[in-house]
Formats: sequence, structure tokens, C-alpha cells
Amino acid sequence: MPPVKRRLPFRYIEPVFFGGLLDDPLLFLRIRPLKRALLFDCGQIAHLAKRVVKPIDAVFITHAHMDHIMGIPTLVRHHHASPRPMDVFGPPGIIERVEHLLLGFEWNLSESNWFTLRVHEIRADRLLHCSFPGPKSFRRSRVTEEQRTGRQIWSCPYATVEAELLDHKLPVLGFRIQEQPHFAIDYEKLDRLGIMPGEWIRDLKNRVWKGRSNVQVEIEVEVEQRETENSQEKPCPDSLLINSGCSKIVRSSLPEKAPRSRSSATAHKADFEDGGEMAVFQQPVKDPHALYGIIHDNRPCVSIGYVCDVGWTADNVAAMESLLKGVTLLCSDCTFLAEDRDKARASYHLCTRDLNELAELLAPGYLLPMHMSKSYLKKSFDIYNELRPPEGTKILRLPKHLVPAPLTVSDVDEWMKT
Ligand SMILES: [Zn+2]
Ligand SMILES: [Zn+2]
Repeated sequence: MPPVKRRLPFRYIEPVFFGGLLDDPLLFLRIRPLKRALLFDCGQIAHLAKRVVKPIDAVFITHAHMDHIMGIPTLVRHHHASPRPMDVFGPPGIIERVEHLLLGFEWNLSESNWFTLRVHEIRADRLLHCSFPGPKSFRRSRVTEEQRTGRQIWSCPYATVEAELLDHKLPVLGFRIQEQPHFAIDYEKLDRLGIMPGEWIRDLKNRVWKGRSNVQVEIEVEVEQRETENSQEKPCPDSLLINSGCSKIVRSSLPEKAPRSRSSATAHKADFEDGGEMAVFQQPVKDPHALYGIIHDNRPCVSIGYVCDVGWTADNVAAMESLLKGVTLLCSDCTFLAEDRDKARASYHLCTRDLNELAELLAPGYLLPMHMSKSYLKKSFDIYNELRPPEGTKILRLPKHLVPAPLTVSDVDEWMKT
């Protein structure tokens, strides 16, 4: 039986890689709760369906080599007749590059409802901003400037994006995408405390997470009292609950959802399948914040690192370690096999040996090697023989190509025959 494939452990962001090993790199991130998306690099994107492209709110360009930016006009074509603006973030020079891409077309038929492309240039010490409004035929606005403080360049309630400048014989951006902390219950902790899950969890979220303290929510949990032969075990601390006036219910099984009413002790008795029975007490919660502090799932927030086209230099390695240490998923270029290390050094790309060292240093949970040189058409899968991930790092494998093969004359000339 083939192994069961599991989703990567992301809650709010869903990474999808839209390129094969030999295709242009294209990391698409869906932000599930918003039904919106981010795109990292934007080379060949003609193979993306319009319904994939339309939710993209922000594009992050590592650098302006063609294979990382030539898809911007395609994005503009899909988005232009929509009022929602789109942001493009890129390294020094990105404003001028985008301006020249847009100047390559005639916009005399532009309309007042067209979208605005906002471009943000990430420099070491400053951020430059300008916009290209569709209603004004994408003519560039005045550039404004602000001091750069910290790495964060984009955020929403569910994720943040940080950027660091690296060296590819020109400035190139590396990115870290981090899920924001979220409300999550550790159901094993709940079980250990003998508290049953139910609709009260939604009320708890409203109270302690969304800060809706003005909403009068009576949070009431059901606590199981486990009866053993000689003693009564009561695992939930009394300090969390108001014990007076609670009602006792005796159950045969766990409810699908905890009852909302606080009706008096109308208990029913029934036997468990194994012949036992369970006493359940409905109890109001004294301190919802303290309860959440005890039962929340405190696993660290997951993250994604994206680096593409960087030289293996001491400065780059130090910057990548500082930005990307311990990411859950590392997407990294691996342009050359070990035998072509000299080519990697000359062009400021990574080879398999470099990526092995980088993975050792960063210890990602998952590693997605990508953006291989097209010269490896016949031996691209050798990459997987040469990669030696550290223990605990799982390699994600891409096919050679995800982009459909281009058409040839013989594919279409049938239609020109009479
Ligand atoms: Zn490239
Ligand atoms: Zn490049």
C-alpha cells in the first residue's frame, strides 16, 4: 500500500509550488481564512488558472532576472479590471523595473475602475513606495520614502512576511513567512483535566482571543468526575471553576456538543458499554483567561523560508541563518549538482553540497529544493541522490516539469487544413 500523504502542518497558510524542478520558481501561498493569496517570484505564470491568480494580493520578487519577474504583465492583465489594489515587494531597483514593464504597453483605453499596482522597494536602511494607478494609465506616482526598522514588510492577522537582503551579484531578497499565533486548544490537556469539549470553546475564543469582554458570555464547561474503586478523582483545579450551584449529569457517552442550558440537576443515568457510568458536572468558569492559559496548544507557530539565487558566501550564510533558522519548510534554489560547484560559485547560485550545509545549519522540518539548471534535463533527479538532509528534515520532491509542454506547429496545423 502506498504511504498515506499528509498535508504540511500549516493552519492558516497553505503553500503550493507551481513549478517543476526545471521550471521557473513559483511559490503560491493561500491564506485560508481570508481566501486571499501571496506569490513569491513571478517568472513564467501563463499556466496558472485565472481563479488562482485573481486572489493574489501581494507579490514578493527576489530579484529582477527574467525568470523571477517576467510574469508581472500577465498578473496585470488578469487583475486590471478590478478595483482591488495589488502590492509588489522587491529589492533595490524594483520600481524602475516595474515601471519599464508597464511602459511597454499602450494604456489609452484605461477606465476609472482599474486597479492600482503599489510597488515597495526594500533597501537595507529604507523603504521606497510608489503606485501605478490603472485609471491614470499606470503612470508612476511620486516616490515616497521611509526609514526601515526591522525585517517585517507585510502582515495580516494570520501571517507576516520578513525580508533580508542577500547577494547574487546583485541584491536579492530572502523571505520568511510566519504564521501568527492563533487560538488553539490542546485536546489532550483538556482530557487530562476531565473537561469535555463543546460549544463553550467558541465562547472562550470570543472572550479571551477576540477580546469581546463586552459580550456577556457565560462560559460553562462540563467536567467529568472520574470515579475509581477507592477514591474520587477530580483532575480539574477548583480555582478555575465556580463550584456552587453546579448541576450533576450522569452520562453514558460524551455529548457531540455540550448543552447550552443550565437547567437544574435533571440527570439521566445510563450505563457505559463496558458497564460503567460517568458523573458530569456543569460548572461556570471563574477565570476564562486562566483556563485558556492551561488548555491552549502551545506548539510554536509554523513558518516558511524562501530563498532563490544566492551565492554561497559567508555573509549570505550568516544572513540566511539569522532569518531562517528552524523554519518549518525551507524552499531553496539548488541550481547545480555537486560536480558543477564551480559554476555555482561563478554565478552565485547554490549546488547540492551547499544546500546540504544550509539544511544542516537551519534544520528545517521540510526541504523543497527547486529552480534547477535546465542543463540537467537528463539527470535532474540526481539531485535527490546528492542531498543529505539532517535527521528530522524531510525532502519534498518535485517532478521535472509542472508547466505544460509548449505547443509545436504539428499540434495545431490541423485547424488550418480545408
Ligand atoms: Zn533564477
Ligand atoms: Zn538570478
